[in-house]
Amino acid sequence: MELIFLGPPGAGKGTQAARLSSELGVPQISTGEILREAVRTGKSLGAQAAPLMAAGKLVPDDIVLQIVEDRLMEKDCSTGFLLDGFPRTVTQATALSDFLATRARGIDFVISLEVPDAVLLERTKARGRTDDSLGTMKQRLDVFREQTEPVKAYYLTRGVLRPVNGVGTVDEVAARIRNEVASPKREA
Ligand code: AMP
Repeated sequence: MELIFLGPPGAGKGTQAARLSSELGVPQISTGEILREAVRTGKSLGAQAAPLMAAGKLVPDDIVLQIVEDRLMEKDCSTGFLLDGFPRTVTQATALSDFLATRARGIDFVISLEVPDAVLLERTKARGRTDDSLGTMKQRLDVFREQTEPVKAYYLTRGVLRPVNGVGTVDEVAARIRNEVASPKREA
């Protein structure tokens, strides 16, 4: 099964993606995690990405696309994958579609976690990540509205978008996601 998790910062994407990926037995691919790891290990990719991440901005599409395409070529992705935090722009989404289409694959569905801004700001205050300060968080929300919201429309027209209410306990939200996964539909 081929899945995408979309949602603003603090929506619970990472938590829910980890849960579902272990339930379905497909790898979770988090571009944010891969980039943070590159920063930690002092890779040149990390040096390029670090200031952008700290400022709450997106890393350039070509860099992130290369990361994802390399990762999707690995053996453990042959039976499916769960992308967490990618695509974040329409350019990334169309490039992913092209990449998958040339391999006769497609996206089964896109879980879009819906959480009001007020709840997001509360949650990230509690999370304490370095890019979670109030100013950076507001910047990340702006970036989400401007660059990532249009990705939802892209998948809506392809018939694979599944909006899920992300307000509630981790178990409640997980149950809603499981419901959506029960009736997958492949990208046209
Ligand atoms: P995340 O852990 O998904 O919230 O990602 C943390 C940060 O990594 C983001 O604020 C961006 O700076 C960068 N990042 C992660 N995924 C992407 C992506 N698909 N496109 C561009 N930048 C990304």
